[in-house]
Amino acid sequence: MSRDGGARPGWAIIVHGGAKEIEPDKEEANRQGCLAALAAGQTVLEQGGGAHEAVEAATRVLEDDPTFNAGFGSDLNTDGVVEMCAGLMDGSTYDIGSVAAIKGVRNPISVAQAMLREQPILLTAEGARRFAGEHGAELCAPNALISPEKRASRMKEDHDTVGCVALDQSGRIAAGTSTGGLEGTHPGRVGDSPLPGCGYYADSSIGGIAFSGDGENIARAMLAARVIQALEAGRSPEDAVRASLDHLHKVGGEAGGIAMGSEGRMGFAHNSPHFAVAWISDGMNGPRVQLRQDENS
Ligand code: ASP
Repeated sequence: MSRDGGARPGWAIIVHGGAKEIEPDKEEANRQGCLAALAAGQTVLEQGGGAHEAVEAATRVLEDDPTFNAGFGSDLNTDGVVEMCAGLMDGSTYDIGSVAAIKGVRNPISVAQAMLREQPILLTAEGARRFAGEHGAELCAPNALISPEKRASRMKEDHDTVGCVALDQSGRIAAGTSTGGLEGTHPGRVGDSPLPGCGYYADSSIGGIAFSGDGENIARAMLAARVIQALEAGRSPEDAVRASLDHLHKVGGEAGGIAMGSEGRMGFAHNSPHFAVAWISDGMNGPRVQLRQDENS
């Protein structure tokens, strides 16, 4: 199935590698990184795994790839330290796991996954890292997440949060995000990415959404909530994201979002120069990847 219609697929998945400007020499890395993440999520879905497991699998690949500002290769705060945020929502149960300003874990999305069935929806900083250690997440020295390239390009602003929305064979939708935040922000700063209703949301009866961009402004405009309401009102995923970006104009900033309807239709929109997106469903001949919405028009 394409982004724009057809019969309901058995499964579907869409990933993004951030709303940002992609330099020509980084285009291929962005395409290949998104495709590799998509393949990891696809494998989970084809084997009958849950949508939240597919989101975790895809996001881990993006976190491990220094092309993206999540996990290894994250941006640095004003102390020169990597602090990360991640969120994951199972739209069939409304369970949420998220971590904010966490240091020294390889894959924040897996900490969010471990939290999914727990009572708290959000843990921060040291408490989040302690939870990660108690639940078998791979810990590391905070500096081990600084890629050589990031060290060299310090203070160059990037938006590279990663995100994923998936539909599994049981009709469950999940959405997730993972980010190193914005370069050069205050220690302890938290953006939209771990905040449900801002950076992401999933409701299997309506759809799912994951954003990247200027986190404070995405939160001010509660973009994910707007997309879910627009999907519920019957708008296509692409229209729903585009309409939410119209609200962003009130507060300014750049963003890009990937969305999926309950029936597996996928779409995306952005007001940033680029937005690396890849998607596939079981009705498609193969994956699609684009670095801009109008790339093939
Ligand atoms: N939204 C993220 C944040 O504000 C940044 C990004 O998209 O790269 O933390």
